[in-house]
Amino acid sequence: MLCLKINLRVRRCVRVRCPRHPRYNPECEGVGAIRGGCRYCLAIYELYAGKLAVERSLQALEKHITRCASFNAVAVDGKQV
Ligand SMILES: [Zn+2]
Repeated sequence: MLCLKINLRVRRCVRVRCPRHPRYNPECEGVGAIRGGCRYCLAIYELYAGKLAVERSLQALEKHITRCASFNAVAVDGKQV
C-alpha cells in the first residue's frame, strides 16, 4: 500500500529579457530562434523549458493517480462480487 500526500503550491513570476535580443520569446520562437548561441537567450529558453517540464511532470502525476485510483475501484468492485 502506498499512501501519498502531495501538497504543492508554486507561484513565481519572472520577467526576463535578453539584453542583446529583447524581442526573443522562447514560447513563440523556440530554441531555433536563438541567434549566435546567445547565452542569455539560451538561459531564458532553459527557464521556459523547465516550466514546461514541471507542468508535464504534474500532468503525468495526475494521470498516474487517476490510473491507480481506477485500479482500486476495480479491486473494490472485484471483492464485492
Ligand atoms: Zn540573446
